Amino acid sequence: MSAKIIPVADHRYLNAVPMIPASLEPATGLLADTLARPLRDLRISVTDRCNFRCVYCMPKETFGKDYAFLPQTSLLSFEEITRIARLFVAHGVEKIRLTGGEPLLRKHVEKLVAMLSALKTPDGRALDLTLTTNGSLLARKAQALKDAGLNRVTVSLDSLDDATFKRMNDVDFPVSEVLNGIEAAHRAGLGPVKVNMVVKGGMNDQEIVPMARHFKGSPAILRFIEYMDVGASNGWKMDEVIPSAEVVRRINAVMPLEEIEPNYTGETAARWRYRDGGGEIGLISSVTQAFCHDCTRARLSTEGKLYTCLFANSGNDLRALLRGGRSDEEISGAIAHLWRARGDRYSELRTINTNGMTAVVKRVEMSYIGG
Ligand code: SF4
Repeated sequence: MSAKIIPVADHRYLNAVPMIPASLEPATGLLADTLARPLRDLRISVTDRCNFRCVYCMPKETFGKDYAFLPQTSLLSFEEITRIARLFVAHGVEKIRLTGGEPLLRKHVEKLVAMLSALKTPDGRALDLTLTTNGSLLARKAQALKDAGLNRVTVSLDSLDDATFKRMNDVDFPVSEVLNGIEAAHRAGLGPVKVNMVVKGGMNDQEIVPMARHFKGSPAILRFIEYMDVGASNGWKMDEVIPSAEVVRRINAVMPLEEIEPNYTGETAARWRYRDGGGEIGLISSVTQAFCHDCTRARLSTEGKLYTCLFANSGNDLRALLRGGRSDEEISGAIAHLWRARGDRYSELRTINTNGMTAVVKRVEMSYIGG
């Protein structure tokens, strides 16, 4: 029987306890980082567990049956998550996205949605509260999430062909269940539902046009995501990336497209619409058209570590401050200090070496901080 890996105090990633600024300032006010990017979006991972093993995110080789996921005690409670979120909102966050792992695996996640949906921006506006899911549990939970105050969902779906989809999620999960979840979310009023397809060359790129055809004319917005070198375990290679320009070329050849303006500054997806009025698609091109210059996103791991980039290799332990009895002013001061010092722009600086890969440094896993 192979030994079970039990992490001691979660030392899997290098993390520092953030500094509390000597002079504390009010726990409110907009923040800008060293590239003048405001803090606008907070992505909160509510679990590191998932019921899928997507090859580009949580490959079975790393996240096998002996992988030791975080013990419940190390996860932030809903009260702790809400307190931290409130401090971020006071500093300008207007959009909160719940992620994972698979967030719907976190028990009673609707309660957290209700707590977060009660938060208001300093000028009294409601937050834009969204959630990214693999759709496996969505058909059952959509209405409860809506009733709790969730605004929208984004559902990951990498193929319509069952065999291809099962190769991508690596747990034999059928497409039909995810499509049922998308339908249920739409019926519950969690739209426009965004559908995210990660395109991996040689694995599901043949599905680009069938997916576009399926969602064209539907209320859902399909987005194509370039395969990324996230984390340190998906064996990423540049020659498996299908550039967004190629995705557009393939679709445009059969269903003419035109590019349109973004909805807002910092939107990750470039927008294209069908010339015949059949709706729009999105392209998220972190590899070939990096968008770090407008990146307004902070990420909170499920145990309270703050990351200022998806490709970071170290975080900052806000949980230690929370559980160390620090005041709101002190924690808010630490958040302000961290964001002001931020200079991340990994995708703009990504260097691909001679064998078409990027240096494998201990980057944080996407399943740990959410996409
Ligand atoms: S690579 Fe980092 S800085 Fe650039 S867009 Fe992604 S999360 Fe933002």
